[in-house]
Amino acid sequence: MEYDLLIVGAGPVGCVVAERAAELKGWKSLIIEKRNHIAGNCYDRYHESGVLIHQYGPHYFRTNKKDLLDYLGRFTEWIPGNYIVKSSTRGELFPFPINLITLEQFFKRSFTAEEAEAFLEEIRIPNDHITNSEEFVLSRVGKEMYEAFYLGYTLKQWDKHPTELNKSVCGRIPIRFNRDTRYVDHEYQFTPAKGFTEMFSRMIDNPLIDVRLETDFNDVRNEIKPRIATLYSGPVDAYFNFQYGKLPWRSLDFTFTEYQQEYVQPCVQINYPNDHEYTRSVEIKHVTGQKCPNTVVSYEVPKSEGDPYYPIPADENAQLYLKYKELADLENKENKVYFSGRLARYTYINTDEAIEMALSTINEIIRDADQS
Ligand code: UDP
Repeated sequence: MEYDLLIVGAGPVGCVVAERAAELKGWKSLIIEKRNHIAGNCYDRYHESGVLIHQYGPHYFRTNKKDLLDYLGRFTEWIPGNYIVKSSTRGELFPFPINLITLEQFFKRSFTAEEAEAFLEEIRIPNDHITNSEEFVLSRVGKEMYEAFYLGYTLKQWDKHPTELNKSVCGRIPIRFNRDTRYVDHEYQFTPAKGFTEMFSRMIDNPLIDVRLETDFNDVRNEIKPRIATLYSGPVDAYFNFQYGKLPWRSLDFTFTEYQQEYVQPCVQINYPNDHEYTRSVEIKHVTGQKCPNTVVSYEVPKSEGDPYYPIPADENAQLYLKYKELADLENKENKVYFSGRLARYTYINTDEAIEMALSTINEIIRDADQS
């Protein structure tokens, strides 16, 4: 069988590229996927108990781009994203990210926005040249809240001190001077009504798209030669046979526990900066909106081995990635291989950003094909 595109990985990037290639150009794609399912780490499924779970950790879909939401809306209905997180520290549950309610509970006094800003001005540790996550948090909220909410969580999650991580890591979390308790700031916060797997499955339900599951790229890379291009969304170091050494990745272990009650947590996610081996417990039912008498909570324990989930945003890793990027650029020129997505670009992006990247990659593939 002749294919126009060979797509490695059936995650968000692979699915979007295949769908756009079919729709815009009538190109035929073969998607190969190592795992036994599509949707990458967005994969959700019904647990043995009948509860819909996010198998690889919670995915809170959000975007600021209406056109991105509309594009995905061709493949799913949406329900509002009920993304509420609390942090368990000092024996209490606090709203997180830090906002006025958190400050009031933590410092046991009331605050207007102006009073809170003035108060933080007193306790924060100003820094004009922030280079890492510790400096970032200290400069926003000072030492006491840094130690209560960030330090322990970050050590557990990354096995690195916040001084060793780029400021963008803890910088992902907003700090607010209002009473907005949502986890993220984005304008559109929605969840696919029937789940992510269903959405991606509809996206690639097309006679021009074939999918081969449980297929390792290394087993087919010399056999399948696409007519136009290869889209590679796997780990970039693996593509090049780790020739410069392994890029460090962070992985996770999940334990899913069923409970015979409708809900066990007050909200979808509870973070445990200072207790337990796990970083967070997630009761995704709060987000999926599923109605059932039982529930499932997942407990996440970070680890360094296993499937790559997170690139580790630190300078030395960026240096190593740049060496792989040089190889990737050459491979693109010589063999029309396009590297796209969180794993292929070693970048800590969310689902909406991965999809945007996929849309720009398919445009690039089309432009290059039109020019040759
Ligand atoms: N973080 C923290 N305390 C928390 C939550 C997050 O210190 O309660 C830090 C931690 O370093 C984490 C980063 O902020 O890795 C980003 O958190 P986010 O919840 O966005 O991570 P993700 O959902 O991508 O795992």
